[in-house]
Amino acid sequence: MRNPPPQAVRLSEYRPTDFLIDTVDLDICLHRTQTRVVARLALRRNPKGRADVPLTLDGDGLVLRGLKLNGRAMDAGDYDATPDRLALHKAPDAPFTLEIETEIDPSANTQLTGLYRSGSAYCTQCEAEGFRRITYFLDRPDVLGVYTTRIEADKSEAPVLLSNGNPAQSGDLADGRHFAVWRDPFPKPSYLFALVGGDLGCIRRTFTTRSGRDVALAIYVEHGKEDRAHYAMDALARAMRWDEDTFGREYDLDVFNIVAVSDFNMGAMENKGLNIFNDKYVLASPQTATDSDYAGIEAVIAHEYFHNWTGNRITCRDWFQLCLKEGLTVFRDQEFSSDQRSRAVERIGDVRGLRLAQFPEDSGPLAHPVRPEVYNEINNFYTATVYEKGAELIRMLKTLIGDADFRRGMDLYFERFDGTAATVEDFLSCFADVSARDLTHFTLWYAQAGTPIVTAKSAYDENAKSFALTLSQHTPPTPGQSDKRPLLIPISLALFGENGERLDLASPDASASECARGLVELATASRTITFAGVASRPVASLLRGFSAPVRLEPAPLSDDLERLLAFDDDPFNRWQAAQSLALRSIFARVDSLRGSGAAPDDRAFFDALRRLVETGDDDPAFAAQTLALPSETDLAREVGQNVDPDILFCARNSLRRALGGALGDRLEAAHARLGDARPYSPDAASAGRRALRNASLDLVAAGDPAKGEALAKRQFDDATNMTDKLAALAVLALLGGDAREAAFTRFYEQFAGDALVIDKWFALQSTIPEEATTARVHRLMRRDDFSLLNPNRVRSVVGAFASANPTRFHALDGSGYTLLENIVLELDPKNPQLAARLLTALRSWRTLEARRRDLAEAALRRVLAAPNLSRDVNDIATRALA
Ligand SMILES: [Zn+2]
Repeated sequence: MRNPPPQAVRLSEYRPTDFLIDTVDLDICLHRTQTRVVARLALRRNPKGRADVPLTLDGDGLVLRGLKLNGRAMDAGDYDATPDRLALHKAPDAPFTLEIETEIDPSANTQLTGLYRSGSAYCTQCEAEGFRRITYFLDRPDVLGVYTTRIEADKSEAPVLLSNGNPAQSGDLADGRHFAVWRDPFPKPSYLFALVGGDLGCIRRTFTTRSGRDVALAIYVEHGKEDRAHYAMDALARAMRWDEDTFGREYDLDVFNIVAVSDFNMGAMENKGLNIFNDKYVLASPQTATDSDYAGIEAVIAHEYFHNWTGNRITCRDWFQLCLKEGLTVFRDQEFSSDQRSRAVERIGDVRGLRLAQFPEDSGPLAHPVRPEVYNEINNFYTATVYEKGAELIRMLKTLIGDADFRRGMDLYFERFDGTAATVEDFLSCFADVSARDLTHFTLWYAQAGTPIVTAKSAYDENAKSFALTLSQHTPPTPGQSDKRPLLIPISLALFGENGERLDLASPDASASECARGLVELATASRTITFAGVASRPVASLLRGFSAPVRLEPAPLSDDLERLLAFDDDPFNRWQAAQSLALRSIFARVDSLRGSGAAPDDRAFFDALRRLVETGDDDPAFAAQTLALPSETDLAREVGQNVDPDILFCARNSLRRALGGALGDRLEAAHARLGDARPYSPDAASAGRRALRNASLDLVAAGDPAKGEALAKRQFDDATNMTDKLAALAVLALLGGDAREAAFTRFYEQFAGDALVIDKWFALQSTIPEEATTARVHRLMRRDDFSLLNPNRVRSVVGAFASANPTRFHALDGSGYTLLENIVLELDPKNPQLAARLLTALRSWRTLEARRRDLAEAALRRVLAAPNLSRDVNDIATRALA
């Protein structure tokens, strides 16, 4: 059977619904295999919709058990019900009530959307289109209703019953059953509905809002894991206070509940008053979570909380506007983390992430605008482009109009659109109004896909004492968009004199404000700015703080890298200079490995890094970021075409060995010096010291494997926290041999049964860059503790292998691609969302050298030819091959 071409949904075809649903009363009787759902919907015709049309509700896999119109059972001839839709041939003109009874089987729900079971608990995931798997509904974000939810369950199976809003009533029933009623006074779309039932442990705290209201906070986890939820609770309280202080946003319900579950497709979900989390983003203890796990928990807890205003109180009119809530909320959580930690280090981390995930997406067949204009399967658009590039657009907006107008624009947005389903245009109109600036040109960032390339050329005129900087932009074509227009690009810049002194900017080609702010706007294909009064050839620092999501070429200007690394006062560009120097060295090593160039002279680069290791204790997290070489994925992206992962791996390793050898004694000293006898604390300063210490250990081992192994073994044995233990294990994993296998065995024995830690054990093995790993991954997948039904476990093995082990995934015999292909096809009937996500690992196949390109294409074609593909996988395979 051939797979049908996916059905496209288009932004241009948006129209309001013909009916509105003002209230939703749900009565849900939980049962493992036969959950009964009675939905009483108060419907009326939408004055903005069409008159005289029948009513059609969305469904997905539903069984209809009863249907009443205004309290009377409907005749079978008056409606059609299939698993996917419920259509009334005639709907009343006056407001009416529809009572729909459906039956669902949560135990059989392996897709993890709608109502399903995770462990022994019932939980839901409704974004984007999961509510239609619970009852028939107008399942789209512009239908806002007030929900009342009554849940009934066996009291011993599910003593905890939660839904959105505030608790209204609860009590015991006959036969050991009980019920709870929840009322959510805030109108919301169906994707924000949530329900949890189960036997769960809990920690509680009260938060007093700035207007003096007490909010009862609770985090529900598996019994016995309560101790691991305290950091998440602390992060939640900090996020609530931060949103009051920074955006003037206060929480609005009497309770805020978070539930951690182990089976979850995404990171977490912002359901009104009842956030449901992948437990990876809730549970942490020093012995089981790394510093980056703690940072991830802080960021995701804050992100979901911030959605209460950006997403829930103001939601999206349609799914094309997804960035309206996601880009904005990612921006808000990035700002929160920057205020809680080191702003420079956070910025470097965010840009690394953007370049690793979004840049390849934006330059391949899956490229799409931040606000897409068409989709086949909305689940495939929860992408780095919508989230991370979407956040960059907010950041640019703030940069362009300034902090004060940005805050005033946000205030106006909350005031003007509270309680509505809004669009990107609605959002931008607020900033245009407060800043009196025409933002029409800026809007193009939302519509045009692809990463712009900004080219910088400079010329110094000794006689005129002037420095001319020419900035040009060009965006390569992307699917469906062959001709690109110039964007409005804010470029932050500074000029430095010979001794590192910052020069005042003066130019007849730039406005006084541009010169004063050090921020020029590139709005045309090319712009030349000649700076006057420049006594000697300056060093230019461009795109400071990564002021726009573009590729800067050359990055940065020619021979200034060592000097920028030494004295740029923008930490991001100091880090960027080190990255660029590393890239230059690695690519010289590639040429040398191919016999076409001499080994690079890295002395000045290594000297700069040596100083950093010696003096890096003031900001060790920054020093650690700067010591970290570009990853293999970074290298492949920079090469762009005919990528040979093996030679990139060898060249990168050759630089690691050289760097480790050259700095060995200083690195060893740093490793010893930064050891900490105090009890573990996840704060940013302590985490920074551990980061530099472990980066040092990694490079010591690269330069001197025997010494590295001895140090890593000792650290592995002595470590009292997961950060140091896992870092040591990672070093041993790269070194190989008996020490490695012994360490893996001990690690497993120590943490057996602790799923989140064992995920790390799986992931680390899947990313060992050596030939035997593919067979190892097959062995891992045959283990009893591997399951295709748990997304975290699948990601820790298959996801890690495909995204973080380039030499093995792209093995020349095609074995890596076959492994992925088989898993995607086996997983697809069970969990299509996860299967489609895994398949995106092949999105950059066209950038590979010819042999691998052919093998990857063949694997994609075999996937596409398989029978009965889900819409999710069909869409990714089709677009990847287009
Ligand atoms: Zn979000």
